[in-house]
Parts: sequence; C-alpha cells; structure tokens
Amino acid sequence: MSFENARTAGIRLSASMAASMRATALRAQGRTVFDLSLGEPDFNTPEPIVQAALDAMQAGLTHYTGPSGLAVLKEAIIRKFARENGLTYKADEIAIGVGAKQILFDLFMGSLNPDDSVLIPAPFWLSYRDMVEYNGGQAVLLPCGAETNFKLSPERLAAAITPQTRWLMLNNPSNPSGAVYTRAELEGLGAVLERHPQVCIMSDEIYEHIRFEGVEVCSFPKACPALKDRTLVVNGVSKAYAMTGWRLGYAAGPAALIRVLNKLESQTTTCPSSISQVAAAAALDGPQDFLATAQAAYTRRRALVLEALAQTELRVVPPDGAFYVFPECSAYIGRQTPDGRTIGDDIALADYLLDEGGVAVVPGQAFGVGNYLRLSFATSEENLRTALAAMVACLSTLKKG
Ligand code: PMP
Repeated sequence: MSFENARTAGIRLSASMAASMRATALRAQGRTVFDLSLGEPDFNTPEPIVQAALDAMQAGLTHYTGPSGLAVLKEAIIRKFARENGLTYKADEIAIGVGAKQILFDLFMGSLNPDDSVLIPAPFWLSYRDMVEYNGGQAVLLPCGAETNFKLSPERLAAAITPQTRWLMLNNPSNPSGAVYTRAELEGLGAVLERHPQVCIMSDEIYEHIRFEGVEVCSFPKACPALKDRTLVVNGVSKAYAMTGWRLGYAAGPAALIRVLNKLESQTTTCPSSISQVAAAAALDGPQDFLATAQAAYTRRRALVLEALAQTELRVVPPDGAFYVFPECSAYIGRQTPDGRTIGDDIALADYLLDEGGVAVVPGQAFGVGNYLRLSFATSEENLRTALAAMVACLSTLKKG
C-alpha cells in the first residue's frame, strides 16, 4: 500500500540529506566515511546561548508562545537588523519559524496561486525548487554560469520576468556556490525589479556572517530601499551561531505577508520551541565573538580545500561566502574506473567518491547544474585534511579512456 499522495510523490528527498544518509548507512556497515555533504557547522552552540536556554527552562518558559513568538526574541531580531544591516522594522514586520526552512515553505504555501511562477537563479539551494513545486507554483530555473560567478545579471532577470512572475529567490551568500552579490550588483537587479511591481523578492541571507577576504554582504532592502515593501529577508541562527538543531529561523518583510506566515504557523507548528526562542534572543543580543572565531576557522578550512583542489582537475571559483566550494568536474566525466566502468556524470562521480574513496559530496545536479560537485567545509580541519587527501587519491584513480 502506498501512503504517498501524488503531490508528495512529485518532490525529491533533499539530496544533501540523502547523501548524508548514505554516508551514515555505510558507516553503520563499518566503513570509514568522511562527510563533506551537509551544511552544518561542527562547532558546539556557544555556552552563553546554552545557558540562556537552561535558565529559560528553569524559569518555566516552557509553554506555547503564539505564532509571532516571544517579545524578547522579536525585539532582539529588530535590534539585529538595525545594528548589522542598517534596516528598521516594526514588531509586526517580523516572523519566526521552525528554521528558515519553515518560513520559506510557508511563504510559498501562503502566497502562490496556481499559475504563479518563481524565478530561481541556478545553482540554487535545493529545497527552493521542491518547495515551490509542492505548493503549486512553477519553478523557473535561470542557469547562471561560472563566467558570471554564478550570479544573476540584470539583463537575464529582465528577460525572465513575465506577468506570472510572483517571486525572485535570491540567496546571498549562495549555497552552493559561495558567491556574494556586491551592493552595486543588487542595485542593478533592483532597477529591473522596480519596473515590475508584481514581483516580490525573497532574500535568503542565512550565510551573511560567513564571508572571506574583506567581502561585505549587503542586505537586499538596504541596497534597494524602494523595494523594501515587497521584500522578505529570511535569516536564522542555524549557520551563524552553530544552532542547526535548535530550529529557529526568522524573517522581516511587509506586515501583510507576515500575517499570512503567522496564520499558517498557527495551524501547523503553533510556534518554534519557546526554549529555542530564548536561546536565539541570547544569540542575537549577546556577545558576538563567536562569529569572528567561526569565520577564522572557516577561512583556514577554505584555504585547505582550495589547496587540495589545486592538486586535481576540478576547477573552482573561490567562494566569497558560506562554507561550500562548488568545483566544476567535467574533466573527470567520461573517465574509466580501475574496474572498467565509465563515469557518466556528476552523480556517478559523487557515487564513486563515496563508494571507493569514502568521501560524501553532493552532485551539482541537485542544485540545478550538472558537472559540478558541492563540498562543505563545515567540518574540523582534521576531518577535512583526511577527507581531502582521500578525495585527491580517489580522483587520481580515474583514467582517461
Ligand atoms: N537557506 C539556505 C540557503 C540553507 O542552506 C539552509 C540550510 N541548509 C536554510 C535556508 C535553512 O536553514 P534552517 O532551516 O536551519 O534555518
């Protein structure tokens, strides 16, 4: 008997989760596997945040909070946007959710009508497409190649907009490419969007604190203030404060849209955990030294990855932000394995790296572009060194036919 309806059958299991689950299954069989597939900081959540959660539990803050969340968290989010992004929001312009993921899902569930389309520059974070399609929208993928550093150009955007376009998805810094839009580039996109009032903008800035070599991340409505009343900025504490398991995301946007998100939340999760809300407020309001410590670690790890990739025929644009590299792997497509199989595409290459090298990575096709691999460097330097050495050795076993 199938328990799956047609709608759910139409979407994929998250490919990064699937790769990580395969790695876990191989480990359970006793294999040594290095997991470079998941975008999850390996650090522990900083102690003051954990302490705030413990205090909240002991103080009895263990009840429903209502969908719009605790005032202490909303105020901390408002202060964060003012302090870090130079943006002013009121309490009714802030939403919270069980991770940024819930906010994004609710956004499409609550706002898309059947003929609406959503522009998604590719490569993209893999959940965008499935979330849009699941909620009845049409995902329009806009491939952006390495020649534009995987970024959407104003010309490309202008050519893609139709009367049906409802949302543009921006992810800055990008998962998987690590590309960061400059303020001028955002302004260029904004100039196009100003001419199309039916298009709203979702700016996913969850990786804003992970950036390299003096790169600045400008929040979209800061660069394009005229579009603030049709932009939803999505963020969360998962990546910045190593809080993936706390499941707390937040967003800022027009009050009418926030009311839609709150309505859906009231009928689904009710609210994120009250304890996580207090912890997130402590993260946003508390000492920020963890951000610099994490950034220094990611900077060292990025250098290790780039050094290792230079020993291979994978070609990479060094990432400006986030904790991924997204090398092109076409040099290895068509090569032969020692037992005479041909590597047909990036999926086969990722499978080979896992089966023969014990290294889990995600094939580019999951992010909407073939012939790429995504490697996450959100893992310890020690793990990274061993994984990279295994990957370099494994790639060198592939011979030209
Ligand atoms: N956006 C992007 C681009 C992501 O990579 C992720 C997590 N992988 C999320 C949103 C969701 O984050 P969370 O639900 O943990 O807040």
